[in-house]
Amino acid sequence: MMITAIVGVNWGDEGKGRMVDLLSAEHDVVVRFQGGNNAGHTIINDYGKFALNLLPSGIFRPGVVNVLGPGTVIDLEHLAKEIEYVRACGITINTGNLKVSDRAIICFPFHRDQDRLEEERLVGKKYGSTVRGIAPVYGDKYLKKGIQVGELLYPKYMADRVSDLLEWKNAVLTSVYGGEPHTLEATLSWLKEYGGKARNFICDTRKLLEEAVIEDKNILLEGQLGALRDIHYGIYPMTTSSSPLTAFAPIGAGLFSRPIDNVIGVVKAFSTCVGEGPFVTELDDDVGLRLREKGGGEYGAATGRPRRTGHLDLVASEFGMQVQQVDEIALTKLDVLSSEPVLKVCVGYEIRGNIETEFPLTPLLYEAKPVYEELPGWDEDITGIRTYDGLPVNAQLYVEYIEEHLGKPVCYISVGPQREEIIVR
Ligand code: GDP
Repeated sequence: MMITAIVGVNWGDEGKGRMVDLLSAEHDVVVRFQGGNNAGHTIINDYGKFALNLLPSGIFRPGVVNVLGPGTVIDLEHLAKEIEYVRACGITINTGNLKVSDRAIICFPFHRDQDRLEEERLVGKKYGSTVRGIAPVYGDKYLKKGIQVGELLYPKYMADRVSDLLEWKNAVLTSVYGGEPHTLEATLSWLKEYGGKARNFICDTRKLLEEAVIEDKNILLEGQLGALRDIHYGIYPMTTSSSPLTAFAPIGAGLFSRPIDNVIGVVKAFSTCVGEGPFVTELDDDVGLRLREKGGGEYGAATGRPRRTGHLDLVASEFGMQVQQVDEIALTKLDVLSSEPVLKVCVGYEIRGNIETEFPLTPLLYEAKPVYEELPGWDEDITGIRTYDGLPVNAQLYVEYIEEHLGKPVCYISVGPQREEIIVR
């Protein structure tokens, strides 16, 4: 048996979904352990192209059990619609291959409203929210004002709690933001409609995972976003509201009886960042535009927002590697760098006259200027290459340079978005 985590080392959008889709072939269970429908995992496989927000990326593999763990937050309406969308493409989703934790927290329409109203209030100082209610629902979870998915199985208990919760939430929506209140009737009817659709998927997923361990099953833990957006260690407050770190995965999944065997850290061959926050190697020139367009269009899968692009940042990536405790690197989008004459790689930050190699706290990130080393590029299109030796020498040099800096082997090199466009070393 094997427990693998696939996690992001950068700001998210590294291509974790394509790696999970690929490696789920060797796993029995795939678990999302944090986040909600703010995720956007793009997957291209035999069934088509998908942007999954909530469903684990193992959903396309027959026989794989997909779990939304206790660390996730679930917009029941979005879940119902995403299930319909994926089913419409010929994928089977039933109570055998999808399980939703009874301890996950429900994301309500009033969370979405609050998210939007708060972003509007912030005007020029936005956090870059996806406006899907994720920050308000995680906030409520830790205020102990959340509703667990499993409460759907106890309607009377849940209705009483929703009533109490709504009284407080409406006070916030109306008096803080001047927004519209949500009625108990509309909220309960939303729960009835979409909760009804989720009901049969609900289970104690911790038990399910512990049984999977006893049965020697292979389990894959799928992270959303990346280390630099972690609520504790990321570029706070321009982070997500949950922890996409490997160390959180056992809690967010419900897997306590065995440690993780292998952590695959997904690193993009250059940098991208959706949303706000300091981004030291950001490019606002032709090179940045070229990287965005060549990457098949770097636009956020959940929001469609253009991704900010930059040179590879090894200072940030090294920090990401440490906090993710990566064993093996999956390097993605190497193909996008083809025909770049020179490849710049950030190896230090100049801050207040000093060269720093440690990733600092957010205030200093705003002051940091990148210190670059340059590596030679290559002209060849590498999308069709399937062996490491088949790569142009300069592409190999780039990979080995990254390995040396980050101190872990690059075991996967993704050279295109399709399932088979990968070099396994
Ligand atoms: P995730 O959230 O980490 O799963 O990443 P996203 O799906 O948001 O973004 C990754 C994007 O890059 C998607 O559009 C993928 O189809 C695409 N992609 C993944 N790997 C590669 C690759 O090696 N080359 C190219 N050109 N595109 C890739």
